[in-house]
Amino acid sequence: MNQYQHLLEPLDLGFTKARSRVLMGSMHTGLEERKGGWERQAEYFKQRAEGGVGIIVSGGIGPNEEGVGVQGGAILVDDEGVAKHKVVTDAVHEVEGALICMQILHTGRYAYNSKAVSASAVKSPIHPFPPKELDADGIEKQIQDFVTCAVLAQKAGYDGVEIMGSEGYFINQFIVKHTNKRTDEWGGSYENRIRLAIEIVRRTREAAGEKFIIIYRLSMLDLVEDGSTWDEIVHLGKEIEKAGATIINTGIGWHEARVPTIATSVPRAAFVEVTARMKKELSVPLITTNRINTPEVANAIIAEGQADMVSMARPMLADAHFVKKAAEGRGDEINTCIGCNQACLDHVFSGGEISCLVNPYACNETLLINQPLETKKKIAVVGAGPAGLAAATTAAQRGHDVTLFDSASEVGGQFNIAKQVPGKEEFFETIRYFAKMIEKTGVSLKLNTRVAAQDLIKGGFDEVFLATGIIPRMPELEGIDHPMVMNYLDVLKEKKTVGKRVAVMGAGGIGFDVSEFLVHGKTTPSLDKSQFMKEWGVDLKVTSAGGLAQAEVEPPVRDIFLVQRKKSKVGAGLGKTTGWIHRTTLKHKNVQMINKAQYLKIDDQGLHIELDGEVRILEVDNVIVCAGQDPQRELQDALIDAGMAVHLIGGADKAAELDAKRAIKQGTELASAI
Ligand code: FAD
Ligand code: NAP
Ligand code: SF4
Repeated sequence: MNQYQHLLEPLDLGFTKARSRVLMGSMHTGLEERKGGWERQAEYFKQRAEGGVGIIVSGGIGPNEEGVGVQGGAILVDDEGVAKHKVVTDAVHEVEGALICMQILHTGRYAYNSKAVSASAVKSPIHPFPPKELDADGIEKQIQDFVTCAVLAQKAGYDGVEIMGSEGYFINQFIVKHTNKRTDEWGGSYENRIRLAIEIVRRTREAAGEKFIIIYRLSMLDLVEDGSTWDEIVHLGKEIEKAGATIINTGIGWHEARVPTIATSVPRAAFVEVTARMKKELSVPLITTNRINTPEVANAIIAEGQADMVSMARPMLADAHFVKKAAEGRGDEINTCIGCNQACLDHVFSGGEISCLVNPYACNETLLINQPLETKKKIAVVGAGPAGLAAATTAAQRGHDVTLFDSASEVGGQFNIAKQVPGKEEFFETIRYFAKMIEKTGVSLKLNTRVAAQDLIKGGFDEVFLATGIIPRMPELEGIDHPMVMNYLDVLKEKKTVGKRVAVMGAGGIGFDVSEFLVHGKTTPSLDKSQFMKEWGVDLKVTSAGGLAQAEVEPPVRDIFLVQRKKSKVGAGLGKTTGWIHRTTLKHKNVQMINKAQYLKIDDQGLHIELDGEVRILEVDNVIVCAGQDPQRELQDALIDAGMAVHLIGGADKAAELDAKRAIKQGTELASAI
């Protein structure tokens, strides 16, 4: 019997059947608005259908121009649009049993759009345009536009629609008092505020008929002031069920909520309890969501009856064949989403196309293709960090004879360091995945082997990939060799003892990570749901409106100064969707962030800096240097002199602004074509 049998069980919806309990959650890819984007999406979704997803949900499509997130955003309002969408639905339906629904997303006051409309003219704290308050006719138009959009989706061949009623978007803005100040029949009482949601579902069902899936995404935990209470949410769920929804999906947190809901530092399946409580109240199937990224976790949720389906969005970017691999007992071959947001959400919010840090093929299915092998080559890959791992396994998969060397005793390179940072435990999964791929693709792995140029010259290799990573930078400064000075490797890798008061020099990604490592006690919120909820002030029982509670942060175990020279806000360069989480965590832990500092010297007293023209001494036990990195390329010149074909990838190529996204992509691209 398959160990994930509950997840693989079909879900009977009466008139149709989902092949598995996995729903691929909606994600805007950025391809919706690109030239050639529909063809690219067709292949992207088709591969997920082939991979065994039960129901695919498309990225959000606006029902009209005022509803889109940005001007020019994708809408479905006419037959021209139907023809574009048909390219996608036809491709998905080539796969027997595959189902695809289109998400109808009206962003309301979350639009970067001067045409934004909402229940009331209450500006969102994270968007520049105050919305226009709709009059009664305007509301009728919006409802009709939802219905027309659903009917057009049906015409385009979708098996259903998902009506986006959560995350603080248009429908949600009517439901909650904070954004609905109306006094007419669409505002005031809860009955009035939920009328819009009910009318949209009811009229969509009427127009689309019985044999059409309607998923309603219901905000079960708003995480904003004045949000809905649990009784209200249950009441809405019952009304939506009556109005004709086939399935209800869970929404957690408005976009403006100051609680992380999907980042890697959120514990796995952190919010499932909310869906499980709702299951006792409703009879339609319920979908749960947020930070579910492995078949083990997903299967346990279904087995325990906490939900009927599990929504996974980013995990389907990371591995198109997630479900198929689980079904074939190859769960250990799944490339796991590590929740970093670096190539998906961060790209969306910068107006780009999405892909995936651990899987650069995602959304590039028609562009990044492993070329058929013309000549089998003998390839040496030096360095088994992300760049070397991606390159070695891709080259071996294509049929090359690959030897992968690393001086360390394990594969993973800097990911072995990153995974020790509280909130980055998921990085282990990428190492686990690549280790399995090495085994599967037949890469010859030589650990504990520090390679010299002569070894490679004598080895008879046709090509050498240098993926030797970086060397931590040690700035020139008086006292830099003082015994109190360490670098981040001393702390994270060598586990040297660190005192109670610490100055961290350099506030890039690693400076932040080292600070996190040093402020937390024995338990970390990312691995302990109840600590996470306590530290971020979440009341999962929603006894208070919106589910917000008083945050109770564990005191820091050290006093930290996090210092940089730049004038910009400390942490300004961190990820678009995750930077605020790192900054808030450290603020909660009383870390003192100092910008515009000029380093003067280090001595027994501590770190001397000049700040706004005044000298200040940070009296600390240790100074930890996190001042960036330089490429490690000691082998390159000798190999080139010997006439060898050498390729630099990852940190060895360029250390500045290097991250694993670039390292894996560069390694994959090189090996896919060589
Ligand atoms: P590396 O990972 O440095 O690997 C190089 C490998 O080469 C090493 O294993 C080394 O042992 C081996 N090697 C070197 N010379 C030789 C030789 N002569 N012979 C044999 N082997 C050799 N990136 C992100 O994108 N997101 C993050 O959140 C993130 N967090 C991080 C947190 C920390 C604490 C750290 C330290 C890094 C983090 N990074 C993060 C950066 C990321 O880990 C690097 O960008 C990535 O590892 C670079 O990959 P690489 O393959 O180029 O080099
Ligand atoms: P980084 O982001 O480039 O930051 C280096 C820091 O050191 C900067 O704050 C810089 O700020 C300071 N610095 C640079 N040269 C210096 C010098 N000579 N003397 C003193 N200070 C100096 O590099 P990193 O933190 O080492 O991270 C390496 C890479 O790993 C990053 O590029 C990042 O992409 C990746 N990473 C990502 C994450 C993530 O969460 N996405 C986390 C960790 C690491 P000032 O010049 O202002 O002092
Ligand atoms: Fe997951 Fe990161 Fe890939 Fe996004 S980029 S899908 S968060 S692994």
